[in-house]
Amino acid sequence: MDADAIIIGAGACGLMCAVQAGYLGKRVILLEKSDKPGAKILISGGGRCNYTNLFASAEQFISENHHFLKSAFTQWTVEDTISFFETYGISGKEKTLGQLFPDGKNAKDVVSVFTNLCEDFGHQIICEASVMDIVQGEDGFKIIFEKGAKQRSLLAPRVVVATGGLPIPKMGATDFALRYARQKGLRVVDTAPALVPLTITGKDEEWYAQLSGNSVFCEVSNDRMSFEENILFTHWGLSGPAVLQISSYWRPGEFIHIDLLPGQQVLQLIDAERTHNGKLLLSTLFNRFYPKKFSDAMGKFLPMDKQVANLTRADLDLIDQYIHHFKVKPAGDKGYDKAEVMRGGIDTATLSSKTLECKTVPGLFFGGECVDVTGWLGGYNFQWAWASGFVIAQQL
Ligand SMILES: Cc1cc2nc3c(=O)[nH]c(=O)nc-3n(C[C@H](O)[C@H](O)[C@H](O)COP(=O)(O)OP(=O)(O)OC[C@H]3O[C@@H](n4cnc5c(N)ncnc54)[C@H](O)[C@@H]3O)c2cc1C
Repeated sequence: MDADAIIIGAGACGLMCAVQAGYLGKRVILLEKSDKPGAKILISGGGRCNYTNLFASAEQFISENHHFLKSAFTQWTVEDTISFFETYGISGKEKTLGQLFPDGKNAKDVVSVFTNLCEDFGHQIICEASVMDIVQGEDGFKIIFEKGAKQRSLLAPRVVVATGGLPIPKMGATDFALRYARQKGLRVVDTAPALVPLTITGKDEEWYAQLSGNSVFCEVSNDRMSFEENILFTHWGLSGPAVLQISSYWRPGEFIHIDLLPGQQVLQLIDAERTHNGKLLLSTLFNRFYPKKFSDAMGKFLPMDKQVANLTRADLDLIDQYIHHFKVKPAGDKGYDKAEVMRGGIDTATLSSKTLECKTVPGLFFGGECVDVTGWLGGYNFQWAWASGFVIAQQL
């Protein structure tokens, strides 16, 4: 045997798994397709790495089985993530909505915690090693990979597949986990880009494009979920945290609904002005809540140059409709090139929720994004990656 376990993928889950296995005295080898470990950690949170969320619970995840992650989240909590990083000099600073970032440090420092520990434990990380297949024999798992032009193999009694999801193929994302799972007869829940910008095409495209770069605080919702955060207009459609969040719940052909003034009633605000400041232009009132460019663009639908005292009943109905019930039918999404995560993945029913071991193939484990557990924006996906890596390590 070459090691106690081979971990395929030196991303968030694989690195945490290796380090936790090291604490338990196990020796592992990591195989990583890219030229460096933790590539996605390095670009996460704009290079600052939103490494967990203070409020992480099953509520903020999409999965066919909402209860599945609870065991892992009990074994490895948010507090465990926080104190793990604190031990190695990274303390957390909350940005907003429970999102924790390294205080005064960045994503590079997060990756260094893992690479330094792997070195201390004597774990080998083999980069530019693309795993092609796993062959199960009586004496364990033979992991076949390409390194340079050569095909090589390693043998171990246990194998961890932590090859992530499909987003950002140019960074090394592969469908290896999904392909191998299917080869083993395991069901894969339909996958799709998630936390992804949405596109607008056709006659509306120009209206959105003129607003490119402007953001507005909104409530964005559909029949399944709603989020109150900023939306960002782009030259091809909509992005920003609220849109990324709802994209995970959006299906092609559906509308999304936008309340452009959440928590307030536009007609009440207009009414208040009408009694003592009737000459106020609707555009001036809107400029108090929105970027001027946005107020100007709303002139396509609303009588922005009317004084509030002169607004008719029909005007008011129209204003209420546009401000609180703005409807958008995205043409599509920006796909895996721009998605932060993948929705769907290996069916949780095929894995033990306590250990993440495959029920039908003892010794085979799946963790991280390749499993049908998809978090919201805000540090949730890393919390799942760390927790699943920890849980698997206990079994190696
Ligand atoms: C731009 C961006 C920003 C993000 N920001 C955040 C954030 O701030 N907070 C947050 O919680 N989440 C964030 N995410 C999501 C988060 O990065 C992922 O959910 C998380 O990295 C998943 O961990 P993982 O270990 O499952 O997969 P990954 O971290 O993707 O690691 C999988 C590894 O496996 C390797 N691999 C793939 N196939 C093979 C193969 N055949 N052989 C060998 N190696 C292989 C890949 O190269 C990769 O390094 C972000 C994602 C993106 C794209």
